[in-house]
Amino acid sequence: MWVITPQGLGDLDASLNAALTLANGAAVYAMSPAERAALHTVYQLYDACLGQPHLDLTPNVLDTARPYMRSAYDQVQIGGRLATLRERLLASTDQCPYCGFGEPRDLDHYLPRSVFGELAIYPRNLIPSCSPCNNAKRTVVPGLDPAHGPGLIHAYFQDLPDIEFLKAQITFEGGALGVRFRIDSPDLEADLAAKLEFQLDRLKLNERFRGQINKFLSEQRTAMRMFNEIGPELFAQYLGRCANSLSGSFGRNDWRVALLRALSEHQEFCTAPDLYIGV
Ligand SMILES: [Zn+2]
Repeated sequence: MWVITPQGLGDLDASLNAALTLANGAAVYAMSPAERAALHTVYQLYDACLGQPHLDLTPNVLDTARPYMRSAYDQVQIGGRLATLRERLLASTDQCPYCGFGEPRDLDHYLPRSVFGELAIYPRNLIPSCSPCNNAKRTVVPGLDPAHGPGLIHAYFQDLPDIEFLKAQITFEGGALGVRFRIDSPDLEADLAAKLEFQLDRLKLNERFRGQINKFLSEQRTAMRMFNEIGPELFAQYLGRCANSLSGSFGRNDWRVALLRALSEHQEFCTAPDLYIGV
């Protein structure tokens, strides 16, 4: 969850040529050497800015080419001339980095192609994501529009500190287990905390986690029953170990890790988990 390793860029010029040349060899748009050089400069600036907006990402020299670059993304779709780029990027992760559970079927433009047409087919601007996350994010431009808040974190470029910042709050009301995730760490830098909180909120993750939590806990029922029979203390230790084990695979701020960590510290749950999940 949160971040993934970026794939190699591949041959950017070959991708560009494929995007702007029809199968019969005719040019959709004949890009001049100056435009091509400017586009490479934009790509380099994007990396240098860690994917954050910058005025020079839309230089005047690319005003004519921009609409063609924007439309070139159509070739990244299934059956398009750049469909292999799509397949390569989607194959890089089996879980959407925005939510940590959805199947990546879309490519999200971190900086939206409606504004940043130059970056429409740039691999580092294309984040594998599930459709609900992609649809919920829409055209968030970090920092450019107050309505967009601080923006989402960049799944390729964000350097996350090695601290626990995702916390799960456990409640039990009306005979049902309630779980609410929040960003909470005194050691987290304020700007980053704001982005992570915005991401939780914008993608409606607390609502969308509910079904995943039920499924996840029902898969753990047999083991939970066994350890709970031995005693609450051992059961709490077991949950803590499960959290550590999953942390090794998914990171310490994965939602499953935060959930198990919170459950292991919840005395009532460890004493009588059957009240919460019908063990
Ligand atoms: Zn997702």
